[in-house]
Amino acid sequence: MKIVLFDIDGTLVSVRGAGRQALQLALQDITGVAGTLEGVRLAGSTDPVIVEHALAQHLGRALSGPEELARILDAYLAHLPRELEALAGTLHVYPGAHALLSALVATGRHMVGLATGNVEAGAFIKLRAAGLDAHFGFGGYGSDAACRTTLVRRGIERGQDAAYAAVGRRPEPAEAVVIGDTERDVEAARAAGAVAVGVLAGCADPDALARSRPDLTVSSLDDPELWRFLEVEGR
Ligand SMILES: [Mg+2]
Repeated sequence: MKIVLFDIDGTLVSVRGAGRQALQLALQDITGVAGTLEGVRLAGSTDPVIVEHALAQHLGRALSGPEELARILDAYLAHLPRELEALAGTLHVYPGAHALLSALVATGRHMVGLATGNVEAGAFIKLRAAGLDAHFGFGGYGSDAACRTTLVRRGIERGQDAAYAAVGRRPEPAEAVVIGDTERDVEAARAAGAVAVGVLAGCADPDALARSRPDLTVSSLDDPELWRFLEVEGR
């Protein structure tokens, strides 16, 4: 039994800036200041860290406390469905995502979950818009931890629990594979004791991804090398 954890943005889907726009509006609602996401890197980050960076860079201050973060994220979750709707069908699901997820779930030998910096509710809003939500029952999320390594560990633990419930055995962290598009996915996977796969299809900085030395780098989720590596048939 293997645990396979997927990043969302840049790996499974591109929401074409809808997430950034929703968070931008939420930050404006709560802080009263526009444009606080300008120059803030989202790729490979986590929702809480993105908010911290926006406040630090544009308002020169930290969060006033966990309740301010909660208010910003609540506002974000209210804006996100509208911003996704405004995409009017241009939301992009990367090639192979549907097929690979279906094939993995069908083997009965893979526990398929998420390792994403999105807060859990935001993750499922995006996945529902992409028609991918039904594949996922567990994960590690930005709502578990601001630190990506910690949320990957939570995803692995939940995958271990799911495997134990299914087959009575808890896989080791080394039997977990984390699939993502940035060096931050790779670094967090490694720190959590998991295997790291880098996917180039939605990767904005292939050099940084290469420097992080993933255990495997593939062109897309359709790449036969990835399917062989995960021991799943169909490519
Ligand atoms: Mg990503």
